[in-house]
Amino acid sequence: MRIFLTHMHADHILGLPGMLQTLSFMGRTELLEVYGPKGTRYFVDAINRAVRFQSMFPLRVRDIGPRDSIDCGSYRIQAANADHTTPCLAFRLEEHPRPGKFNPVKARRLGVPEGPLWRKLQSGRSVRVGGRIVRSDSVVGSPRPGAKLVYAVDTRPCLAVERLSRGVNLLIHDSTFAHEAQQRAIEFGHSTCTDAAALAKHSRVERLALVHVSAMYDDPKPLLRQARRIFAATILPEDMTTITRVGYR
Ligand SMILES: [Zn+2]
Ligand SMILES: [Zn+2]
Repeated sequence: MRIFLTHMHADHILGLPGMLQTLSFMGRTELLEVYGPKGTRYFVDAINRAVRFQSMFPLRVRDIGPRDSIDCGSYRIQAANADHTTPCLAFRLEEHPRPGKFNPVKARRLGVPEGPLWRKLQSGRSVRVGGRIVRSDSVVGSPRPGAKLVYAVDTRPCLAVERLSRGVNLLIHDSTFAHEAQQRAIEFGHSTCTDAAALAKHSRVERLALVHVSAMYDDPKPLLRQARRIFAATILPEDMTTITRVGYR
């Protein structure tokens, strides 16, 4: 439904034209929204002008800045400035809390018949049954917090990302270089695996995923080991890795 671009470097945006074409071929008709830093609209307009490409679905493109917050229905996206060699945004995705679980056994025990009264209790209101009041919180559990994650790629370690990442379940962070390549990381606007781990620790995140590892590392495992010495709950996902709130595969 929505695509968020972090910055205008080729490795982060050149997949978009092919993706739009594929979605169109697949018969998509729903609106697609694309958000990104200044230059995003220009980029998408340029694709449309240069490539003979018939989009079968409406596209809405918006340039956004570091203070923008976008309500996406069941979740919200907050942007912040990353620290790269070109303007770059980091994004925090935060799901809205979901209502607590309804307990049908308790509801029946309290004499509330299934039907409209259950829906009323689920929506947080009290109901009257045979002269008694049954309160919503006696049959509905406490609200379940939504998942929170931050995507910060490409970036040097920076305070804005550290703030944005406070308390998230998952921080997906730039880890282009190993610890020894600190100078190169700073020079090229990236982070080392240990920079990412230190930031994860300061931000008290639940889990850290190292991404954007440079292709010069045939074996990226040493980066994972270095990071885990600072922040144990670190993983090194591959493309298509699925991460759930309890684990990953
Ligand atoms: Zn970049
Ligand atoms: Zn990159």
